[in-house]
Amino acid sequence: MLDEALKSFSADPDLAEFGQYFFEYYVKNVKSWAYCYRLHAGLNTNMHIERMHKTLKYIYLQGKSVQRLDKAIHAIMRFLRDKLFDRLIILNKGKLTSKLKDLRKRHKTSLSMSVSVVQTPEGWNISSQHNDEMYAVTKINIGCQCLLKCENCQACIHQYSCTCLDSSVRWNMCKHIHYICHNNKDKSSLLCQGDNELDIHELSSEKDVIVDELRTRNSPLRIGMNDRRQALKLKLNAMIDTLNSEEEIQAFEKLFASVKPTIDAIRLHNAEMPPLPRNKEITPVNKKIIPQRRLFSTKKKTSNAARRSIQTPSREEAKNIALQLISKHRSALE
Ligand SMILES: [Zn+2]
Ligand SMILES: [Zn+2]
Ligand SMILES: [Zn+2]
Repeated sequence: MLDEALKSFSADPDLAEFGQYFFEYYVKNVKSWAYCYRLHAGLNTNMHIERMHKTLKYIYLQGKSVQRLDKAIHAIMRFLRDKLFDRLIILNKGKLTSKLKDLRKRHKTSLSMSVSVVQTPEGWNISSQHNDEMYAVTKINIGCQCLLKCENCQACIHQYSCTCLDSSVRWNMCKHIHYICHNNKDKSSLLCQGDNELDIHELSSEKDVIVDELRTRNSPLRIGMNDRRQALKLKLNAMIDTLNSEEEIQAFEKLFASVKPTIDAIRLHNAEMPPLPRNKEITPVNKKIIPQRRLFSTKKKTSNAARRSIQTPSREEAKNIALQLISKHRSALE
Protein backbone atom coordinates (compact mmCIF):
# COMPACT_ATOMS: atom_id res chain seq x y z
CA MET A 1 0.00 0.00 0.00
CA LEU A 2 2.86 2.34 0.81
CA ASP A 3 4.44 1.61 -2.55
CA GLU A 4 1.23 2.60 -4.29
CA ALA A 5 1.13 5.86 -2.40
CA LEU A 6 4.76 6.44 -3.29
CA LYS A 7 3.92 5.88 -6.96
CA SER A 8 1.13 8.41 -6.87
CA PHE A 9 3.50 10.87 -5.26
CA SER A 10 6.17 10.38 -7.89
CA ALA A 11 3.85 11.72 -10.59
CA ASP A 12 4.66 15.23 -9.46
CA PRO A 13 8.41 15.91 -9.10
CA ASP A 14 7.89 18.36 -6.23
CA LEU A 15 5.73 15.92 -4.35
CA ALA A 16 8.04 13.02 -5.10
CA GLU A 17 10.82 14.57 -3.09
CA PHE A 18 8.52 15.24 -0.17
CA GLY A 19 7.08 11.73 -0.49
CA GLN A 20 10.53 10.18 -0.27
CA TYR A 21 11.36 12.27 2.76
CA PHE A 22 8.06 11.49 4.45
CA PHE A 23 8.33 7.76 3.92
CA GLU A 24 11.92 7.67 4.99
CA TYR A 25 11.66 9.69 8.21
CA TYR A 26 8.05 9.79 9.30
CA VAL A 27 6.28 6.60 8.30
CA LYS A 28 8.84 4.45 10.11
CA ASN A 29 8.64 6.51 13.32
CA VAL A 30 4.96 6.72 14.05
CA LYS A 31 5.62 6.42 17.78
CA SER A 32 7.67 9.58 17.81
CA TRP A 33 5.10 11.87 16.34
CA ALA A 34 1.57 10.51 16.46
CA TYR A 35 -0.55 12.30 19.03
CA CYS A 36 -1.87 9.05 20.49
CA TYR A 37 1.65 7.97 21.51
CA ARG A 38 2.62 11.24 23.11
CA LEU A 39 0.97 10.94 26.53
CA HIS A 40 2.88 12.80 29.23
CA ALA A 41 5.29 14.08 26.63
CA GLY A 42 4.37 17.65 27.43
CA LEU A 43 4.93 19.46 24.17
CA ASN A 44 2.43 18.56 21.52
CA THR A 45 4.24 20.32 18.72
CA ASN A 46 7.89 20.75 17.94
CA MET A 47 7.55 24.46 17.28
CA HIS A 48 9.89 25.47 20.08
CA ILE A 49 12.57 23.13 18.83
CA GLU A 50 12.13 24.34 15.26
CA ARG A 51 12.35 27.92 16.49
CA MET A 52 15.55 27.15 18.37
CA HIS A 53 17.02 25.35 15.39
CA LYS A 54 16.26 28.28 13.12
CA THR A 55 17.87 30.73 15.54
CA LEU A 56 20.98 28.56 15.58
CA LYS A 57 21.07 28.21 11.81
CA TYR A 58 20.34 31.75 10.75
CA ILE A 59 21.65 33.89 13.58
CA TYR A 60 24.48 32.01 15.22
CA LEU A 61 25.73 30.27 12.08
CA GLN A 62 24.74 33.20 9.84
CA GLY A 63 22.87 31.04 7.38
CA LYS A 64 25.96 29.16 6.30
CA SER A 65 26.10 25.40 6.08
CA VAL A 66 28.78 24.65 8.63
CA GLN A 67 30.63 21.37 8.41
CA ARG A 68 33.13 21.75 11.19
CA LEU A 69 32.04 20.31 14.50
CA ASP A 70 34.06 22.80 16.55
CA LYS A 71 32.32 25.74 14.88
CA ALA A 72 28.93 24.20 15.50
CA ILE A 73 29.74 23.55 19.15
CA HIS A 74 31.03 27.08 19.54
CA ALA A 75 27.78 28.41 18.11
CA ILE A 76 25.76 26.30 20.51
CA MET A 77 27.85 27.56 23.41
CA ARG A 78 27.28 31.18 22.38
CA PHE A 79 23.57 30.45 22.04
CA LEU A 80 23.53 28.94 25.52
CA ARG A 81 25.37 31.91 26.98
CA ASP A 82 22.83 34.31 25.49
CA LYS A 83 20.01 32.12 26.77
CA LEU A 84 21.51 32.35 30.26
CA PHE A 85 21.50 36.13 29.97
CA ASP A 86 17.86 35.99 28.88
CA ARG A 87 17.02 33.86 31.89
CA LEU A 88 18.84 36.32 34.15
CA ILE A 89 16.81 39.19 32.72
CA ILE A 90 13.58 37.28 33.28
CA LEU A 91 14.59 36.51 36.86
CA ASN A 92 15.41 40.15 37.55
CA LYS A 93 12.22 41.41 35.99
CA GLY A 94 10.23 38.89 38.01
CA LYS A 95 8.33 37.76 34.93
CA LEU A 96 6.41 34.53 35.23
CA THR A 97 6.65 31.92 32.55
CA SER A 98 3.43 30.89 30.88
CA LYS A 99 3.60 27.47 32.51
CA LEU A 100 3.69 29.08 35.93
CA LYS A 101 0.89 31.43 35.01
CA ASP A 102 -1.22 28.44 33.97
CA LEU A 103 -0.31 26.70 37.19
CA ARG A 104 -1.46 29.65 39.33
CA LYS A 105 -4.69 29.93 37.39
CA ARG A 106 -5.48 26.25 37.91
CA HIS A 107 -4.75 26.47 41.60
CA LYS A 108 -7.27 29.28 41.90
CA THR A 109 -9.89 27.27 40.00
CA SER A 110 -9.28 24.27 42.21
CA LEU A 111 -10.15 26.26 45.32
CA SER A 112 -13.75 26.68 44.20
CA MET A 113 -14.26 23.12 42.98
CA SER A 114 -16.86 20.86 44.50
CA VAL A 115 -16.16 17.30 43.43
CA SER A 116 -16.05 13.88 45.03
CA VAL A 117 -12.79 12.12 45.69
CA VAL A 118 -12.20 8.43 46.30
CA GLN A 119 -8.93 7.18 47.69
CA THR A 120 -7.53 4.15 45.85
CA PRO A 121 -4.38 2.08 46.41
CA GLU A 122 -2.73 3.86 43.48
CA GLY A 123 -3.83 7.34 44.42
CA TRP A 124 -7.12 9.13 44.07
CA ASN A 125 -10.09 9.05 41.76
CA ILE A 126 -11.70 12.39 41.26
CA SER A 127 -14.94 13.10 39.47
CA SER A 128 -15.17 15.56 36.64
CA GLN A 129 -17.04 18.80 37.18
CA HIS A 130 -18.74 18.87 33.81
CA ASN A 131 -19.44 15.25 32.89
CA ASP A 132 -19.58 11.91 34.68
CA GLU A 133 -16.02 10.90 33.90
CA MET A 134 -13.52 9.96 36.61
CA TYR A 135 -9.90 10.98 36.53
CA ALA A 136 -7.14 9.11 38.34
CA VAL A 137 -4.49 11.17 40.07
CA THR A 138 -1.32 9.35 41.07
CA LYS A 139 1.64 10.55 43.02
CA ILE A 140 4.99 10.02 41.35
CA ASN A 141 7.63 9.98 44.02
CA ILE A 142 10.43 12.00 42.60
CA GLY A 143 12.58 14.42 44.49
CA CYS A 144 12.31 17.15 41.91
CA GLN A 145 14.00 20.47 42.58
CA CYS A 146 12.48 22.41 39.71
CA LEU A 147 10.81 25.80 39.97
CA LEU A 148 7.57 24.91 38.20
CA LYS A 149 6.01 24.50 41.54
CA CYS A 150 2.82 25.46 43.33
CA GLU A 151 3.90 27.11 46.55
CA ASN A 152 0.52 26.61 48.18
CA CYS A 153 0.40 22.92 47.36
CA GLN A 154 4.12 22.39 47.98
CA ALA A 155 4.35 20.26 44.86
CA CYS A 156 6.00 20.71 41.50
CA ILE A 157 4.51 19.98 38.13
CA HIS A 158 6.28 16.60 38.00
CA GLN A 159 5.13 15.17 41.30
CA TYR A 160 1.65 14.09 40.29
CA SER A 161 0.01 12.84 37.14
CA CYS A 162 -3.63 12.87 36.18
CA THR A 163 -5.50 11.11 33.42
CA CYS A 164 -7.31 14.23 32.29
CA LEU A 165 -6.33 15.89 29.01
CA ASP A 166 -4.92 18.94 30.71
CA SER A 167 -2.35 16.90 32.57
CA SER A 168 -1.64 13.91 30.35
CA VAL A 169 -1.53 15.72 27.04
CA ARG A 170 -1.00 19.39 27.73
CA TRP A 171 1.37 18.63 30.58
CA ASN A 172 -0.06 21.07 33.07
CA MET A 173 -0.50 20.67 36.78
CA CYS A 174 -4.26 20.34 36.37
CA LYS A 175 -6.90 21.55 38.81
CA HIS A 176 -7.50 17.97 39.99
CA ILE A 177 -3.92 17.71 41.20
CA HIS A 178 -4.14 21.04 43.01
CA TYR A 179 -7.42 19.93 44.55
CA ILE A 180 -5.93 16.67 45.81
CA CYS A 181 -2.87 18.51 47.10
CA HIS A 182 -4.58 21.12 49.18
CA ASN A 183 -7.22 18.74 50.45
CA ASN A 184 -4.57 16.37 51.73
CA LYS A 185 -2.87 19.00 53.78
CA ASP A 186 -4.06 19.91 57.21
CA LYS A 187 -5.61 23.31 57.27
CA SER A 188 -2.99 24.87 59.51
CA SER A 189 -0.22 24.53 56.95
CA LEU A 190 -2.41 25.82 54.19
CA LEU A 191 -1.61 29.46 54.33
CA CYS A 192 -3.19 30.86 51.25
CA GLN A 193 -0.80 33.43 49.95
CA GLY A 194 -2.81 34.46 46.93
CA ASP A 195 -0.73 35.49 43.95
CA ASN A 196 2.59 35.19 45.70
CA GLU A 197 5.69 35.63 43.63
CA LEU A 198 8.27 32.89 43.27
CA ASP A 199 10.22 31.91 46.32
CA ILE A 200 12.83 34.64 46.58
CA HIS A 201 15.52 32.41 48.07
CA GLU A 202 15.26 29.90 45.29
CA LEU A 203 15.35 32.61 42.66
CA SER A 204 18.36 34.36 44.10
CA SER A 205 20.25 31.07 44.26
CA GLU A 206 19.43 30.43 40.61
CA LYS A 207 20.64 33.92 39.79
CA ASP A 208 23.90 33.24 41.60
CA VAL A 209 24.43 30.02 39.69
CA ILE A 210 23.86 31.74 36.34
CA VAL A 211 26.06 34.71 37.20
CA ASP A 212 28.85 32.37 38.32
CA GLU A 213 28.52 30.34 35.17
CA LEU A 214 28.69 33.40 32.92
CA ARG A 215 31.61 34.82 34.82
CA THR A 216 33.76 31.71 34.67
CA ARG A 217 32.92 31.19 31.03
CA ASN A 218 34.15 34.61 30.02
CA SER A 219 37.29 34.86 32.08
CA PRO A 220 39.99 32.49 30.82
CA LEU A 221 39.87 33.26 27.11
CA ARG A 222 38.16 36.53 26.35
CA ILE A 223 39.28 38.90 29.06
CA GLY A 224 42.45 36.99 29.87
CA MET A 225 44.38 37.13 26.58
CA ASN A 226 45.88 40.61 26.90
CA ASP A 227 46.35 40.43 30.63
CA ARG A 228 48.16 37.16 30.29
CA ARG A 229 50.48 38.54 27.61
CA GLN A 230 51.32 41.43 29.90
CA ALA A 231 51.97 39.10 32.81
CA LEU A 232 54.24 36.96 30.64
CA LYS A 233 56.24 40.00 29.53
CA LEU A 234 56.74 41.12 33.10
CA LYS A 235 57.76 37.64 34.18
CA LEU A 236 60.26 37.28 31.34
CA ASN A 237 61.73 40.73 31.94
CA ALA A 238 62.12 40.04 35.61
CA MET A 239 63.78 36.71 34.90
CA ILE A 240 66.17 38.17 32.29
CA ASP A 241 67.15 40.91 34.75
CA THR A 242 68.25 38.33 37.28
CA LEU A 243 70.62 36.57 34.87
CA ASN A 244 74.12 37.45 36.03
CA SER A 245 76.58 34.93 34.63
CA GLU A 246 77.59 33.67 31.18
CA GLU A 247 76.44 30.19 32.15
CA GLU A 248 72.98 31.38 33.15
CA ILE A 249 72.55 33.41 29.94
CA GLN A 250 73.59 30.43 27.82
CA ALA A 251 71.14 28.17 29.64
CA PHE A 252 68.34 30.68 29.13
CA GLU A 253 69.14 31.10 25.42
CA LYS A 254 69.21 27.35 24.93
CA LEU A 255 65.78 26.88 26.49
CA PHE A 256 64.30 29.94 24.82
CA ALA A 257 65.43 28.75 21.36
CA SER A 258 62.83 26.00 21.42
CA VAL A 259 59.93 28.39 22.08
CA LYS A 260 59.56 29.73 18.53
CA PRO A 261 59.58 26.35 16.75
CA THR A 262 57.01 25.04 19.23
CA ILE A 263 54.68 27.97 18.62
CA ASP A 264 55.20 27.72 14.85
CA ALA A 265 54.27 24.06 15.05
CA ILE A 266 51.06 24.89 16.95
CA ARG A 267 50.13 27.50 14.36
CA LEU A 268 50.79 25.11 11.50
CA HIS A 269 48.76 22.40 13.16
CA ASN A 270 45.81 24.74 13.65
CA ALA A 271 45.94 25.90 10.06
CA GLU A 272 46.05 22.40 8.61
CA MET A 273 43.06 20.71 10.15
CA PRO A 274 42.73 17.20 8.77
CA PRO A 275 39.90 17.04 6.24
CA LEU A 276 36.66 15.82 7.74
CA PRO A 277 34.93 12.79 6.31
CA ARG A 278 32.53 14.11 3.74
CA ASN A 279 29.07 13.11 2.70
CA LYS A 280 28.57 11.91 -0.82
CA GLU A 281 27.16 15.33 -1.55
CA ILE A 282 29.92 17.91 -1.38
CA THR A 283 28.80 21.35 -0.27
CA PRO A 284 31.32 24.16 -0.38
CA VAL A 285 32.30 25.54 3.02
CA ASN A 286 30.30 28.62 3.99
CA LYS A 287 27.71 28.00 1.30
CA LYS A 288 24.51 29.83 2.12
CA ILE A 289 21.85 27.38 3.23
CA ILE A 290 18.70 27.21 1.18
CA PRO A 291 16.18 29.33 3.07
CA GLN A 292 13.05 27.59 4.22
CA ARG A 293 9.94 28.31 2.22
CA ARG A 294 7.49 30.59 3.92
CA LEU A 295 3.78 30.16 3.71
CA PHE A 296 3.20 33.84 3.12
CA SER A 297 5.25 36.97 2.82
CA THR A 298 5.51 39.02 5.98
CA LYS A 299 6.66 42.06 4.03
CA LYS A 300 4.48 45.12 4.33
CA LYS A 301 2.78 45.90 1.06
CA THR A 302 2.90 49.53 0.01
CA SER A 303 -0.28 50.41 -1.78
CA ASN A 304 -0.08 51.95 -5.25
CA ALA A 305 -2.11 54.96 -4.19
CA ALA A 306 0.32 55.80 -1.41
CA ARG A 307 3.26 55.48 -3.78
CA ARG A 308 1.64 57.65 -6.43
CA SER A 309 0.93 60.49 -4.01
CA ILE A 310 4.62 61.27 -3.56
CA GLN A 311 5.59 60.94 -7.24
CA THR A 312 6.47 64.03 -9.24
CA PRO A 313 3.74 64.79 -11.81
CA SER A 314 4.30 63.67 -15.38
CA ARG A 315 4.61 66.19 -18.19
CA GLU A 316 0.96 65.82 -19.10
CA GLU A 317 -0.14 66.29 -15.49
CA ALA A 318 2.11 69.33 -15.04
CA LYS A 319 0.60 70.88 -18.15
CA ASN A 320 -2.93 70.25 -16.89
CA ILE A 321 -2.17 71.79 -13.52
CA ALA A 322 -0.65 74.85 -15.18
CA LEU A 323 -3.71 75.27 -17.43
CA GLN A 324 -6.04 74.97 -14.46
CA LEU A 325 -4.11 77.63 -12.56
CA ILE A 326 -4.12 79.98 -15.53
CA SER A 327 -7.87 79.62 -16.06
CA LYS A 328 -8.51 80.22 -12.36
CA HIS A 329 -6.31 83.31 -12.46
CA ARG A 330 -8.17 84.61 -15.50
CA SER A 331 -11.60 84.08 -14.00
CA ALA A 332 -10.44 85.93 -10.91
CA LEU A 333 -9.32 88.89 -13.02
CA GLU A 334 -12.51 89.12 -15.04
ZN1 LIG B 1 9.58 19.22 39.01
ZN1 LIG C 1 -6.57 16.36 35.95
ZN1 LIG D 1 -1.79 24.43 43.93
